Amino acid sequence: MDYYEVLGVTKTATQDEIKKAFHKLAHKYHPDKGGDEKKFKEINEAYQVLSDAQKRAQYDQFGRVFSAQGGPASGWENGAGDFNWAWGNPSANSGEVEFDIGDIGEVFEEFFGGGGARRATKKDARRGKDIQVDIEIPLEKVLKEAVEKISLVKQVVCQRCNGAGAEPNTKVKECFSCRGTGQVQQVRKTFLGSYTTIATCPECKGEGTIPEKPCNVCRGEGRIKGKEEIEVRIPAGVDTNQVIKIEGKGEAGRKGAKAGNLFVRIHVREHADFVRRGDDLFCQSEITFSQATLGDEIEMKTLEGTNILLEIPQGTESGKVLRISGKGIPRFGGYGRGNMYVELKIKTPKKLSREQKKILEQLKKEGL
Ligand SMILES: [Zn+2]
Ligand SMILES: [Zn+2]
Repeated sequence: MDYYEVLGVTKTATQDEIKKAFHKLAHKYHPDKGGDEKKFKEINEAYQVLSDAQKRAQYDQFGRVFSAQGGPASGWENGAGDFNWAWGNPSANSGEVEFDIGDIGEVFEEFFGGGGARRATKKDARRGKDIQVDIEIPLEKVLKEAVEKISLVKQVVCQRCNGAGAEPNTKVKECFSCRGTGQVQQVRKTFLGSYTTIATCPECKGEGTIPEKPCNVCRGEGRIKGKEEIEVRIPAGVDTNQVIKIEGKGEAGRKGAKAGNLFVRIHVREHADFVRRGDDLFCQSEITFSQATLGDEIEMKTLEGTNILLEIPQGTESGKVLRISGKGIPRFGGYGRGNMYVELKIKTPKKLSREQKKILEQLKKEGL
């Protein structure tokens, strides 16, 4: 579902135009007035997204909107653009979703709670299968858009016949069994009488045509097993279980039919120093008793590896959490970054020099 199409506005429509289009359509399709309820829901959903600047920007960029409750705001769609985003509902399904390359339709049904999942249709019989791969990236990599190269062994279009399945310079002729219709009639006789069923032509497998001379390389399939290097663009701020869809990069279809899609599921590796929670990063730092008591400035390393100064306030308790704003994970849709939180731990010295001991004994006497 294209939200712009649903509301009948252009991608550059102003908020005013969107609002007007919504009011008009909502009026027309309102179920209380005998309108189409399904259509009404679609209009509503489209308006919820396009009337909100942040959601709209997300939708424009990724073809869908992430909802904080888990689960997408809309069903899965074959939207425009090379990349579509699917959200694997990390909060609800974390780690429990199993992928089955052979039946990606099922998986997405699970992901999106049904409804929006696109089911393979009969027409798609020649279409190449979808491929699902998992890739792991370090946490630092989500700070910026990254390009990962993956190498896939899959069905690729046969170079010799260019997917046609026929030897070069030979013809493809009409199938004699079905006379090009791709279907054959079968008459069955039962005790109730005979009846006719229509079946896919076994000769041409429903295609209606047969190569005069099948291609030597692919034996008429139009595709062969091969290797392909694919660049996967990974947007900044990506999180585990998010899935990138790359249209047409799945298995090649039979005899030049449409290729399947490639689904890349992201796994973000855990970091030694930082724990990620949404867009925020959490880490710990040890400070001395005197730093905590008197206050100080300490150097902290951010996830990107740069040093920043952190001010320790005078009289800091152990366990105090300080916030460094804007040093977390980039948010989707380019809305800045989350925060970095530093938990301060006061370390108690185990070994003391004679001089230190003397000073501390003095402090003890002072009641510290
Ligand atoms: Zn071939
Ligand atoms: Zn046939």
